[in-house]
Amino acid sequence: MVQVCGLDVEPIIGLEIHVQLATRTKMFCGCPLEFGARPNSRVCPVCLGLPGALPVINRQAVELGVQAALALNCSIAELTKWDRKSYYYPDLPKNYQISQYDLPLAFDGLFEFPIDDRIARIRILRAHLEEDAGKNVHDLPGCSGIDLNRAGTPLLEIVTQPDLRSADEAREFAVQLQRLVHYLGVSHADMQKGHLRFEPNINVRIHRDGQVFVTPIVEVKNLNSFRSLHGAIAYEIPRQVEEWLATGVTAATGNKRNRGWDDTREVTVPQREKEEAHDYRYFPDPDLVPLTVQAAWVAELRERQPELPLCRTERFISEYSLPPRDAHALVEDRATADLLDHAAEAGGDKVVLGKHFLSLWARFANERGTTIAGLRISPGRLAELANLVATGRINATAAAQVAEAMLANHDAPTVLAEELGLMQSRDTDRIAAWVTEALAANAAAVQDALANPKKARAARGFLTGQVMKLSGGRADPKIVGELIDRALAERAGA
Ligand SMILES: [Zn+2]
Repeated sequence: MVQVCGLDVEPIIGLEIHVQLATRTKMFCGCPLEFGARPNSRVCPVCLGLPGALPVINRQAVELGVQAALALNCSIAELTKWDRKSYYYPDLPKNYQISQYDLPLAFDGLFEFPIDDRIARIRILRAHLEEDAGKNVHDLPGCSGIDLNRAGTPLLEIVTQPDLRSADEAREFAVQLQRLVHYLGVSHADMQKGHLRFEPNINVRIHRDGQVFVTPIVEVKNLNSFRSLHGAIAYEIPRQVEEWLATGVTAATGNKRNRGWDDTREVTVPQREKEEAHDYRYFPDPDLVPLTVQAAWVAELRERQPELPLCRTERFISEYSLPPRDAHALVEDRATADLLDHAAEAGGDKVVLGKHFLSLWARFANERGTTIAGLRISPGRLAELANLVATGRINATAAAQVAEAMLANHDAPTVLAEELGLMQSRDTDRIAAWVTEALAANAAAVQDALANPKKARAARGFLTGQVMKLSGGRADPKIVGELIDRALAERAGA
């Protein structure tokens, strides 16, 4: 509930999201999907809608659609079919769009994500496949053009129930969904290229004098950024309250309205009125057979479903002791997240691996303009380096040097650490000799360590430092400590 004009107002928001699927070719023909190709160079009789051309279903599009739907906890239809949605518009060469009307590919899902210390649970009404239209080009001198390269691009339209309650929640939903489809490889999810487009349905419940008034639903068309999605919703909520105060009009059949988003002025503006379903004259496409989705295939896809980003982030935080922000960033790049898991499976110390991924490896990847996975170091080598640190055989500074050497010549870290003389010495005879030398040269400190309770601790630290110095930093500090204690104990006893 929010306060607008002194009234208690409850926003009700549903989202329709068009996700462009990462297929190689179009939904119903073999034309390649390429962004930025010469206009009308990626077209054929099918996507041009030439008479007699017959569409063929793209299996990969169906598979990606099922994968996304499974991740959204949807039920998958055993039987789904294709319908023609008729409308007349220059960028639609067939004068109809192939979509799915009454038997969508998937339905009844649930998407959960964390926001403000709670879990938002948004029900998914349906998810169906359809083809995109072409593009009108208005920046030509004296005329408009039409580019049909995009016509026939496979889209998954996801429709939520009106479960969202604020602009913030809607934006977070969109962000998490983008992350999910990218992670699954279902979509390249590039916002700049319009791979995700949002259409929120917004209205508000106004509470006054024990009565509830519901404003007409407004659909804001074609938003292609998280910022515009948030802005449009944040603008609509008070606008609808003000309009209701002025006109008293409440929601009724037929008074749903379309608006567009003016990105410059940051306001929504009225648009042509939405067609009712019967205006589209939906009917089954006679050129395409209904699609039977086999349960065994769905089971196989479910089996192959990877651990989803939110669960993985939680696990990374606890398993690798990572700060939440860093865990989130690591999971964002699935190949790198997989590499970290593989290095742990190869026996690497998890906490040190986590640290190395955030510090060493992230830095080297940045310097080289790639990802950590892009550095092409094997999981076994990553594990080996982590364990050299975890077991105290090299220190953190040495680890950075070894890592750099690993990138240069891909040798094993143990070999490199030895070659570079970075391995901590665990040769007790040698360390004992350094201890003897240090104690002999610093009689005053030895005296303090033995007989001056106020200075004993500092003196012992000083002696440790002297031994480390004599060893050139290579003596294992743990063994040094033990041998100094032993030498001091012998002197105290003598
Ligand atoms: Zn084509």
